[in-house]
Amino acid sequence: MTSLDDIPVTVLKGVGSALADRLAKLGIHSLQDLLFHLPHRYEDRTRIVPMGNLRIGDVGVVEGEVVKTDLVMGRRRSLQVTLKDQSGFLVMRFFHFNAAQKNHLTEGARVRCFGEVRPGRAGYEFYHPEYQTNPPPMLAEGQATLTPVYPLTEGIQQPRVRSLCQQALTYLKRYPIHDWLPPGLLAEYQLPGITEAVELVHAPPATAPVHLLMEGRHPAQQRLVMEELLAHQLSLLQVREQIQARQALPLLPTGDLVDQFLEELPFRLTGAQQQVVRDIRQDLSQPLPMLRLVQGDVGSGKTVVAALAALQAIGAGAQVALMAPTEILAEQHYQNFCSWLEPLGIRLAWLSGKVKGKARREALEQVGSGEASVAIGTHALFQDEVVFNRLALVIVDEQHRFGVHQRLALREKGVGGTLAPHQLIMTATPIPRTLAMSAYADLDTSVIDELPPGRKPIETVTVPDSRREDVIERVRNACREGRQAYWVCTLIEESEALQCQAAEVSAQELTERLPDLSVGLVHGRLKAAEKAAIMAQFKNGELDLLVATTVIEVGVDVPNASLIIIENPERLGLAQLHQLRGRVGRGEQASFCVLMYHPPLSQNGKARLQALRDSQDGFFIAEKDLEIRGPGEVLGTRQTGMMQFRLADFERDKGWIEPVRAMAPSLMADPQRVKALVRRWLGERIRYGDV
Ligand code: ADP
Ligand code: MG
Repeated sequence: MTSLDDIPVTVLKGVGSALADRLAKLGIHSLQDLLFHLPHRYEDRTRIVPMGNLRIGDVGVVEGEVVKTDLVMGRRRSLQVTLKDQSGFLVMRFFHFNAAQKNHLTEGARVRCFGEVRPGRAGYEFYHPEYQTNPPPMLAEGQATLTPVYPLTEGIQQPRVRSLCQQALTYLKRYPIHDWLPPGLLAEYQLPGITEAVELVHAPPATAPVHLLMEGRHPAQQRLVMEELLAHQLSLLQVREQIQARQALPLLPTGDLVDQFLEELPFRLTGAQQQVVRDIRQDLSQPLPMLRLVQGDVGSGKTVVAALAALQAIGAGAQVALMAPTEILAEQHYQNFCSWLEPLGIRLAWLSGKVKGKARREALEQVGSGEASVAIGTHALFQDEVVFNRLALVIVDEQHRFGVHQRLALREKGVGGTLAPHQLIMTATPIPRTLAMSAYADLDTSVIDELPPGRKPIETVTVPDSRREDVIERVRNACREGRQAYWVCTLIEESEALQCQAAEVSAQELTERLPDLSVGLVHGRLKAAEKAAIMAQFKNGELDLLVATTVIEVGVDVPNASLIIIENPERLGLAQLHQLRGRVGRGEQASFCVLMYHPPLSQNGKARLQALRDSQDGFFIAEKDLEIRGPGEVLGTRQTGMMQFRLADFERDKGWIEPVRAMAPSLMADPQRVKALVRRWLGERIRYGDV
């Protein structure tokens, strides 16, 4: 039987090959694709808003009389039409206009227009609004409908998409959309069927409750939201199934290496560390690839946990790969692991993109022959030329961005190319529970929810940058007492070049101002070896003050550093600030974090710095971050499409997360359903994790 999915958009009037190509760019090939290109909001053109009530950013319809029409010269010529109603004034401004427009927009003309309010030189303005002169009477309440607004691509205008969707709707009578959700489920949540829901969101009837639709809370919308969240959940469970369809080498704990290691360790594991180690031990001994995410706040001691996992694998005769996202971190792990494991007679290999020539050949040789039991490095570890001898465990540190595709690709790297390696992913960015449930449905999660004993809280203060002198003085004093300090420059997040420049300027200034201190500088543009050398100097105490860009954001561990200055913290997200702050508070002394902001702070900016001052709990901070900035930012995957929904809104719809997660496993039983839902909502390819 033909379904909407088999009918190409080209059946619609006005869709030639050029338009079809442009639609294809939106992932729209069939009529079903088109109907699942959903309006992400509505415009309320059903009523006239008094001009006096408008605020900047408002979108709406106003109606009034032209009181003045001027041709304004200046940098760009424009036609400025001032409208008036009983409550106030509004200016329509046109940069492109013709003689006819100028002639009918004359004093006394009655105009209805629709636009978005912007601040202009003549007060509030609409630029290039849609307008009508001598408008017909408005439809009475209950007769007018909301206007759907669609996400667009270049070259397709809003009215075009609107009319295509309206055309497509006419096919629904003959070809209803297949409803993949069990009727019992719909009844339980009192949700409409799929065809009804799709019809309603594209063409809301005049009687539909406007406020619910505007907020995305109408049952028809919620039905689609739920299905979308479910489809994402199913796609991740599918990934998990695909990975676990392979066998893994069971790594049975032998104990010897682990016991020796623990004996040498200068501290005892915390209860939380022990629990996570138990989770991992259990997973690793199975013939099924482990897929585990370990979340632990900064300083909670994830590295030791990783080492213990590695030892279990090595004890079972297997190889381990440990990957970190940056050279600095990988290098630090390499040093730590060497000092821990070499005394136990274990060989390690170092492989980063920067390792070249002979050193590289040797490292590859050691990994290939199995002489090295552990390979540590950056992404370079997983290039094709790196062939492991008997890889059975991959540890990925500080990489919650490690996407689904990468997790899938790792399957191929295991012993003999047939056994998939176990995967242990560690992140210091606490992920709020609801978010973790939807973004990491393919992973089991363990949380290290306890810090090692004796950690002193980090005292956090905010100061305006007008007090830079005092802050410099503070650095001088701390370093005189034998402490070390970080000075972090955060210019513009997106521009690494500018960040580096700012750091250079600050480093120079601080070197001049603090002549008795030795000041170092690291930023992303230095060569890996230079970075590593400077980090080593700082770690050894040869440098008092380290000026840095956000490259030191994660993982760097220098316990004697007890003061961190962060310039322009208002430019960073909460989670990132929390990470940066976590560079201190790792030793015996009381630690301080100075957030030196540039006034004035926005309301939002104030709230964020306040949250940081009030709390040192990464999970609390992550919840706040999620509220303030949304899931894409928190996961750091804005560009990658992860958690980018068509309709669902993480904040608004978080009530669905638990039920969707609970129902997903039983729905997995029907592969046809899984395939259809994933395809409907995520398209041909899995959109997750295209990092
Ligand atoms: P993170 O979880 O941020 O990666 P690290 O593994 O770098 O944390 O550990 C931070 C510091 O705490 C390190 O210096 C580490 O040696 C130390 N540490 C880890 N576990 C414990 C523990 N149980 N008791 C005391 N110190 C610990
Ligand atoms: Mg770490």
